[in-house]
Amino acid sequence: MSTIPDDPTISFPPDEGRSWWLREALDRPEFMGDDAPALRDDTTADVVILGGGYTGLWTAYQLKRLDPGVDVVVLEQDICGGGPSGRNGGFVSSFWNELSHLSHAVGDAAALRMCQAGEESVQAIGAFCDEHDVDAWFRADGDLGVAASEVQVGAWGDLVIAAERLGLADDFEVLSDDGIRNLVDSPVFRGGVASRYGATVQPARLVRGLRRVAMELGVRIHEGTPVTRFANGSPVVAVTPSGTIRAGAGVIALNAWASHWKQFRRLITVRGSYIALTAPAPELLKEIGWTNGAGLSDYRAALHYVRTTPDGRIAFGVGGMQPNLARSIGPRFAYDEAAIRVAIADLHRMFPSFAGVPIQSAWGGPIDVAGSHLPFFGTLDGGTVHYGLGYTGNGVGPAHLGGRILANRALGRHDEVLGLAIVDAEPMRFPPEPIRSPGALIANHAIRHKDELEDRGEQPNPIVDFVARLPRRLGYNLGP
Ligand SMILES: Cc1cc2nc3c(=O)[nH]c(=O)nc-3n(C[C@H](O)[C@H](O)[C@H](O)COP(=O)(O)OP(=O)(O)OC[C@H]3O[C@@H](n4cnc5c(N)ncnc54)[C@H](O)[C@@H]3O)c2cc1C
Repeated sequence: MSTIPDDPTISFPPDEGRSWWLREALDRPEFMGDDAPALRDDTTADVVILGGGYTGLWTAYQLKRLDPGVDVVVLEQDICGGGPSGRNGGFVSSFWNELSHLSHAVGDAAALRMCQAGEESVQAIGAFCDEHDVDAWFRADGDLGVAASEVQVGAWGDLVIAAERLGLADDFEVLSDDGIRNLVDSPVFRGGVASRYGATVQPARLVRGLRRVAMELGVRIHEGTPVTRFANGSPVVAVTPSGTIRAGAGVIALNAWASHWKQFRRLITVRGSYIALTAPAPELLKEIGWTNGAGLSDYRAALHYVRTTPDGRIAFGVGGMQPNLARSIGPRFAYDEAAIRVAIADLHRMFPSFAGVPIQSAWGGPIDVAGSHLPFFGTLDGGTVHYGLGYTGNGVGPAHLGGRILANRALGRHDEVLGLAIVDAEPMRFPPEPIRSPGALIANHAIRHKDELEDRGEQPNPIVDFVARLPRRLGYNLGP
């Protein structure tokens, strides 16, 4: 159903294993950092954290800030940042784009508290980089939402109305065709909205910088250490191929990999997101007027997210892809040629002057999609194991907030963020197998096909339109 461009003139490098961001970071000693050898013995800890991405590492960092004496161990199957925390687009956001949905779901006051707590985290990430000399290219230049086809025009209406009602009208400026093209010129842009909120980072420098600081604070990190069995209890027991940890508390920070765990299987579904990175072309960026660090995204259901780098590249991302039934996280989530072709064709459609610029690198990663489109944090029965996942492709900023939530939970401390609507709420459930995976695949194809047709100014037929809208009709905050 979906049209994968197989234009032979589109060329791109093969799978390089790691994202360009991570390779760029690891070339520098300050981001390569000290060794974090695999666990070799049985040991104990106060808190054991599963997963060495932003959620795990922010939790570890905040645990040490709250109580320097606490003994924290992080177990990571790969290296810290080998997963999405070192592969993402680097958009650092709060929940402002969800303002209208949140207001309906939890009321204005709780919605505002969420957005403001998320915003504090965006600022705190910048402050962390300053305080600890982490040069993660943090730039708080705001965020652009653009209509990249006729049907997307006005998609920002609910956000703008909610912002006006809540006295935040000045924070979101609606832009005409010319207004948006004066900021970033693309022949397909049809107006948009500029938000004063939002930042960008070099994502792998951030996660590797966080790793360095956590280690300096005394966090014990074991890379190359997959947790193969885990027992929720007192103590919590994490078993790895070469050692077992017994701890007073456990934190599950496994992102999409949590979908392999029985407790979480129906709470998230996995999608792929893919990025194509151009070679530097600063003169072309100047020609289209894109000279600040603001990231932009459009209003497709499977959205495009696009940002620049200080040396004049475009990183062009396409979300909401499903390379297969997605029952487990296989290699196609890290690199999928068909998805990368889509990203490159869409890049050239949006920025035709970049058609002659080589694609220097391309990669992907898995996304932990929650039915509400929001992360959720909670504690398993027994009270010793805490979890945070479901970022739905928006975890760079929110994982800092997640770390604050999980660290306070693990220490039994009070913090106002424990009262947010994303803590201890019952997450929406996806249907059980065997319905779930094929159903999600069919809906995903329809959503992408509808997006592609609408990008070309065509209408989807009623069946495609119906299937694409099915997840939302069933109550999920997903799809068109
Ligand atoms: C291509 C792409 C683009 C994205 N763009 C953006 C963006 O621009 N802005 C944004 O906000 N979000 C974006 N995201 C989402 C964002 O990257 C994630 O929400 C965020 O990184 C989540 O952090 P995490 O620590 O929860 O997960 P991860 O970074 O995935 O960390 C989880 C870790 O757990 C490890 N692990 C898994 N199983 C085991 C096991 N059994 N034992 C030990 N370790 C294990 C994994 O190796 C992984 O390192 C993007 C994601 C992708 C894939």
